[in-house]
Amino acid sequence: MMQNKPELSKLMNKVSELREFIINLYKGFIPIRALAPENGGDGEWDRAQYLISVVRQYFDNIKVIEAPDPRVSKGSRPNIVATINGIDESRTFWVIAHMDTVPEGDRGMWSVEPYEATVKGDLVYGRGVEDNGQGIVMGIAIGKLLRDLGVKPPFNYGLILASDEEVGSKYGIRYLIGTERGLFKEGDLILVPDAGNDDGSMIEVAEKAILWLKVTVIGKQGHASTPKSALNAHRLGMMLALRLDETLHGNYGAEDPLFAPPESTFEPTKVERNVDNVNTIPGKHVFYMDCRVLPKYSLDEVLTTVNKVAEDFCREHGCRSVVEVVNRDDPAPPTDPNSEVVQRLAKAIKVVKGIDAKYMGIGGGTYAKYIRMMNIPVAVWMTSKGTGHSPDEHVNVNDILSDIKVVLASMMT
Ligand SMILES: [Zn+2]
Repeated sequence: MMQNKPELSKLMNKVSELREFIINLYKGFIPIRALAPENGGDGEWDRAQYLISVVRQYFDNIKVIEAPDPRVSKGSRPNIVATINGIDESRTFWVIAHMDTVPEGDRGMWSVEPYEATVKGDLVYGRGVEDNGQGIVMGIAIGKLLRDLGVKPPFNYGLILASDEEVGSKYGIRYLIGTERGLFKEGDLILVPDAGNDDGSMIEVAEKAILWLKVTVIGKQGHASTPKSALNAHRLGMMLALRLDETLHGNYGAEDPLFAPPESTFEPTKVERNVDNVNTIPGKHVFYMDCRVLPKYSLDEVLTTVNKVAEDFCREHGCRSVVEVVNRDDPAPPTDPNSEVVQRLAKAIKVVKGIDAKYMGIGGGTYAKYIRMMNIPVAVWMTSKGTGHSPDEHVNVNDILSDIKVVLASMMT
């Protein structure tokens, strides 16, 4: 592969000139919201049209795979698959990013408009600039650079911009895997830039299993001045949440140092709105739990425990409860740190950033899981301050530029 070395330095020398392109790209798509219907949005259609118009300029082949979804006005959740032909066309180096974002949350906590790309020095602020706009701009910028300099990569360069990552990937990567057989081939190198740490040393090779639960507690509504005639579902719901919290942490408390954090996590999160007035005792209380479970435990086991705790609790207190699974991702086999994609990245990180890569597992779920389930190795990596889903989400353009160099070095050498 020595013949690629001059091509690589040619590319490397031009990376810093991508700064304006990246900022303008952000300014183009961040204002076009891409929220799943579950999050009160109308899907990714409009954002995808914009991104297709950009990708068209730099990639040889573009295919849009539409997952039908009657809940959105266009009836479709688009997934963009773009490739640049390489010298060896039997393999592809893939970058996979997602177009959808989570909502902005409490606007009062933002110091900038969430749906504008606000530039302050080297930082760009906005909902989705990191998660997963960072993967989008990186993936497109690499394509632009190859095209602008007329460099043919050693194998195909592929970019997938998918839908529906934030609420389970059913209309995104899972749909692609299900309908596009043979999209990923043995020997492909796959990078998912959707998680990372702040110096870019972490290569994520494993993910915890994910279980989202909805727990409904039913008591009896009544007047707040006469609680004996009612059964306060809110109070019982809080008590049940605490009991679940305690039992799950107690029963599944093992630690695995590969993961950060090393233990399984069980967090009570969302609570549904109940009564509208202060003087009514709620007859129904609905809360949710987000569980991230180490691969050594089975989710069936965790679910059995949750159901048992809820049944025992309701027997004691005379209420009824319903436990529903809102989202479930069983664990996938971890990627071997010695796999080609991980090793190429690790070498490139050393060359470009001058640091040693470390291999880790995380609690967040990414696309990688579904690809790992097919026993294809995937590296999840980028340089990230971890501001995704938070107010004032931001990225540092210098991190993106240096990440582009790492990807080029992984691919071209
Ligand atoms: Zn993401």
